[in-house]
Amino acid sequence: MVPLVEEEDIQAVAEVLRSGYLVQGDRVREFEERLAPVAGTRHAVAVSNCTAALLLSLLALEVGPGDRVAVSTFSWPATANVIALSGAEPIFVDIESDTYNMSPTELERVLDGADGAKAVLPVHAFGGMADMPRIAEIAERHGLPVVEDAACALGASLGGRRAGEWGIMGCFSFHPRKAITTGEGGMVSTNDSDLARRLRILRNHGQDPDSSPTEFVAPGYNFRLTEFQAALGITQLGKLERIVERRCVLAGNYDRLLEDTDISTPRALERPSHVYQSYVVLLPKDMASRRSEIIQGLRDRGVEATIGTHHMPMTTYFRKWGDFEIGDFPVTDDVSSRAMTLPLYESLSHEQQEYVVSALSDAIGELV
Ligand SMILES: *Cc1c(COP(=O)(O)O)cnc(C)c1O
Repeated sequence: MVPLVEEEDIQAVAEVLRSGYLVQGDRVREFEERLAPVAGTRHAVAVSNCTAALLLSLLALEVGPGDRVAVSTFSWPATANVIALSGAEPIFVDIESDTYNMSPTELERVLDGADGAKAVLPVHAFGGMADMPRIAEIAERHGLPVVEDAACALGASLGGRRAGEWGIMGCFSFHPRKAITTGEGGMVSTNDSDLARRLRILRNHGQDPDSSPTEFVAPGYNFRLTEFQAALGITQLGKLERIVERRCVLAGNYDRLLEDTDISTPRALERPSHVYQSYVVLLPKDMASRRSEIIQGLRDRGVEATIGTHHMPMTTYFRKWGDFEIGDFPVTDDVSSRAMTLPLYESLSHEQQEYVVSALSDAIGELV
């Protein structure tokens, strides 16, 4: 994916660099103020990346040793890493085969048997929102707060509520692979003033944001965003609507081009609930074992495809930690072996999309 840096972005960053004021200041505050309504919340707290956002969210909820956090299995490893880094343990929850997101049925099942559960951490995989109405209802029934990993889902909404508005906190990423970028960058959205304050303390050396003179009221990190990153974030945010609109059009084209094939296309719960950070399809079941050959076949035809994301319980660390094996998370086993990300970037033309789909069909065809 080609990150979208335009002249206005460069100008905005250059202006900050010339000002000489480089760390967390007015630009960061403005970026937060502009992002909060996009996440549908009263507060937004900018941090250095989404991994920091996720970790601080758990720490703000006082998740720690002895606690457990229910988390989707299929994500970038940061989602589970932060649980381990907080001192807590993950309870992995299998996904749905068509949205690639936490299965509410499985969540219900694992929570009924779980001691020490302290929070629920669903992921909006590839920018498509998880079934938040059901997940929120189940979590509430168990008295658990929900933190959304909305890293890829800025601008999505479901049932009239935005990604980042469903949970007690929502976490966003501005890595260059996401829709808008600050190079590295992250944000936590929340309606809870106490949590927002705690996040601000934790991101800045434990310094009380409301005290003068300076007081250090907790042990904290340095997870701040810089002024030039925030300046970039502000100009980037102005393009979000255009970017999301374009990505939805391109995803719709792929949906239609793949309609009568044996490739499975991603399901969005409703139209605005998916912003297509990635367009991830599933290969036919009998082709799962040949995925790397298919990716190579596409590369030979000039098409860059990649795998979807990671089966977190089967990554080396968590597999050893939990003694997990194939069969423990059957839907994730299947989806993660068949998933393939197709090219999706703003300037992609309809002809190029037709070419991608025919190249995919050729690459599969030459193997059968
Ligand atoms: C990108 C991503 C992250 C990590 O974001 P960073 O800003 O790179 O730390 C976490 N979770 C998901 C689902 C992601 O896609």
